[in-house]
Amino acid sequence: EPLVVAIDGPSGSGKSSVAKEVARRFGLAYLDTGAMYRALTWWCLEQGVDLTDAAAVAGAAAALPLEQGTDPDREVVVVGGTDVAAAIRGSRVTDAVSAVATHPAARAVLVARQQQVVAASGRRIVAEGRDITTVVAPDADARILLTADERARMARRGLQLGGEQDAERLHRQVVGRDAKDATVVDFTRAADGVVTVDSSELTVEQTVQAVIDV
Ligand code: C5P
Repeated sequence: EPLVVAIDGPSGSGKSSVAKEVARRFGLAYLDTGAMYRALTWWCLEQGVDLTDAAAVAGAAAALPLEQGTDPDREVVVVGGTDVAAAIRGSRVTDAVSAVATHPAARAVLVARQQQVVAASGRRIVAEGRDITTVVAPDADARILLTADERARMARRGLQLGGEQDAERLHRQVVGRDAKDATVVDFTRAADGVVTVDSSELTVEQTVQAVIDV
């Protein structure tokens, strides 16, 4: 039976951990759309594509030789034969990804791919990102905006990156990136029919339960 769960939210809201766990509980596939924007960014940097050139970035998106898994227990992100799962989480990609994601033509290419992944799953999937509830799968069975206050988001991202982090860089990679991203897709408020779950005071398990309740 089809079950599409769409989860949007800012950086550090806990989207990925929660989306993966919900997928496991229901035996669904899992799509990390942020990893797709990150893979495209890695490829553009690798190919020397000018990130401010909208046509060039869209061209790179159309030709992107990406192999991405949908198993919540096994992350696979391979670009042109290179395993980039670790590299796409590094500062080089994180600092450049918002610039890539601003180009509407490049987004259109990735959105079409994301919709293909949803269809290929037999519409049994949890997809997470910034525009899943509004653009990629506005017809999803469950549409959730996962939020968390700035303090919680910075703390989680800091932990994810492993202990002692440069505070200024962490702030830039969480708050600065969200501010840039929100000018492209507004994930700061829930669209009509989208349920907001605030995870600031919740554990991962409690957040998973709140999403399952929706
Ligand atoms: O979720 P994650 O932090 O990995 O996303 C990386 C970047 O990809 C975001 O900062 C944003 O620029 C872009 N993105 C997007 N739309 C999505 C998912 C991610 O623009 N659906």
